Amino acid sequence: MCRQLDERELEILRAALTSERFYDIYKSTTIPLASAWRIIRRLAERGYVEYHNGHVKITEAGLISLALHDDVALNILAGKYGVSANAMREYLEFVCRKLGNTDFPIRSLPDTVGLLGLETLRELRGTPVEGLAVDLLFRFCRDCVIEINGSAFILGNNGIVAARCRFCGEDVRNELYPDCPHAKTLFKSLKMHFLRDYKNHYNATKKT
Ligand SMILES: [Zn+2]
Repeated sequence: MCRQLDERELEILRAALTSERFYDIYKSTTIPLASAWRIIRRLAERGYVEYHNGHVKITEAGLISLALHDDVALNILAGKYGVSANAMREYLEFVCRKLGNTDFPIRSLPDTVGLLGLETLRELRGTPVEGLAVDLLFRFCRDCVIEINGSAFILGNNGIVAARCRFCGEDVRNELYPDCPHAKTLFKSLKMHFLRDYKNHYNATKKT
């Protein structure tokens, strides 16, 4: 996703935002037909567009790559995840600073938190993109989310890595590595239960 796109690839992707017909896309650029076709095929191989029966559809991976260069794409992506364009830009730039120019294949934005890892995400704590990072974590691993009365937590790295807590006050915030006392209690009690269970099991098997 962070690979630098060349001008013609950008032109094609931009055109694909306004029409899905290959012919319209080609017509709205200055690129010769054969080249336009070649570029579409190359973009399809990289997962940036899907091509089917004369129709070209920009994928979320394509939208993300374009958003690094284009404000229209950035706004569409920001709208999709309910954040400001500035927050989206800051997050994408953070991702690419961390991942470098390697062309990691991703299907959607939540895949990026998997590539970054929990330790790197910690750096976003207290920044304007903390909320987005938590939202992406919740989407990345829906099965990892523990929900309690409308609050949601994700365990990891020897504690709670993400929280959307409704117990701490009026405004529900998405937090990374939260200071939330409830999250800490939750983690401690899980740990205690686990250890107690383990001990009981151990003693039981020793007796037999
Ligand atoms: Zn809390």
